[in-house]
Amino acid sequence: MYIEQANRLKNIPMSKIREITAKALELQQQGKRIIHFTLGEPDFDTPEYIKEACKKALDEGKTKYATLNGVLQLREAIVEKLEKENNVHYTPDEILVTNGVAQGIFLSLMSFLNNGDEVILPGPGYTSYNMVPVVAGAVMKKYSLREENNFQIDVQELEGLITEKTKILVMINPNNPIGSILTKETLNKVADLVRDKNIIVVVDEIYERLTYDGIRPVCFSSLPGMKDKTIIMNGFSKYFAMTGWRLGYLAGPKPYIEIMTRLSFLATAGNSMFLQYAAAEALRHDHSDCEKMHLEYNRRRDYLFEELNKIDRLSCLKPQGAFYIFLNIKETGMTSDEFAMYLLEEAGVATIPGTAFGDEGEGFVRISYATAYEDIVEAVGKIKVAMNELELNKELAE
Ligand code: PLP
Repeated sequence: MYIEQANRLKNIPMSKIREITAKALELQQQGKRIIHFTLGEPDFDTPEYIKEACKKALDEGKTKYATLNGVLQLREAIVEKLEKENNVHYTPDEILVTNGVAQGIFLSLMSFLNNGDEVILPGPGYTSYNMVPVVAGAVMKKYSLREENNFQIDVQELEGLITEKTKILVMINPNNPIGSILTKETLNKVADLVRDKNIIVVVDEIYERLTYDGIRPVCFSSLPGMKDKTIIMNGFSKYFAMTGWRLGYLAGPKPYIEIMTRLSFLATAGNSMFLQYAAAEALRHDHSDCEKMHLEYNRRRDYLFEELNKIDRLSCLKPQGAFYIFLNIKETGMTSDEFAMYLLEEAGVATIPGTAFGDEGEGFVRISYATAYEDIVEAVGKIKVAMNELELNKELAE
């Protein structure tokens, strides 16, 4: 007999991403060609100069325990980046290097949420945000990002969610799964709302550099009065194609950084030293290699946006960031789960049901275009055929 899991883990929902991926693999094993629009992971390798910096750090013996809050050289590079690109001034002791933004999410929520505290989250939003508060025993409240509102925050709705018990407000900008960006106007309204409230604003800016049409999201802590209330999260996985390196960082008020560093010691006791030297080089080097990947995402986005909107009963707004299209499937009359399963079985195209990111994602599926252009073209052709069949079946049934 095995010992039962701790109560705090009992209500964590199984990820729907894993369900659909398992089904896709099963079909693949049966010999069916599957195109994966599921993973939020660059299909590119990490740029050579970053790998070289890692090898150099290894050769130089950077193989010891690193300082708990991160190698100073990396924290300095992060400070420089925040100053130069985001117009906000931090010092190295206001930075904590994390094991990916995944750990940043865990630390920023678990370090402050007590049982019964309230946390306000975007609906839809990246899956971990729907799970970590459960571990903390906190109460989750959602503000909705609606297509008819251009996926902006309805600040009145948000205001109605704030109570005495609210401890944290989360924003993801650009958003996963939507690919939308919160405008400066929206962020200013949120800043006005929280200015006199005792709330921590946690802002996930992991897709900050993956934006299109010249739009750059405003860093929330750069807004007047917000630095002291905000924990910014960012990382190396997406723009630098470094998912496997597991590196991210938090920037926030020193007392918060100290609290989160204490918790991170229990989980990981710091991050790999040589990887951190390479990450510092990633930030300081010119970004031409990363910009090539960025341009390619742009090309795929433009193609998908044009082609998917030509298909009857499917539509999407033009995403401004990340590498996701949030496809509106409401006119098919199917649920997100049904539609994702239909596309997988009929077209061999694996997408993620919008509900994997919270109930507010009903009526949508997420398409990741971190996938080769040729595969995207093939998938679009297959989606068109599957949608035609759907129309025919509907006509026959009528
Ligand atoms: N935050 C968001 C919004 C994400 O989409 C992801 C990954 O998909 C993460 C955090 C986790 O990233 P990391 O690889 O840095 O842990």
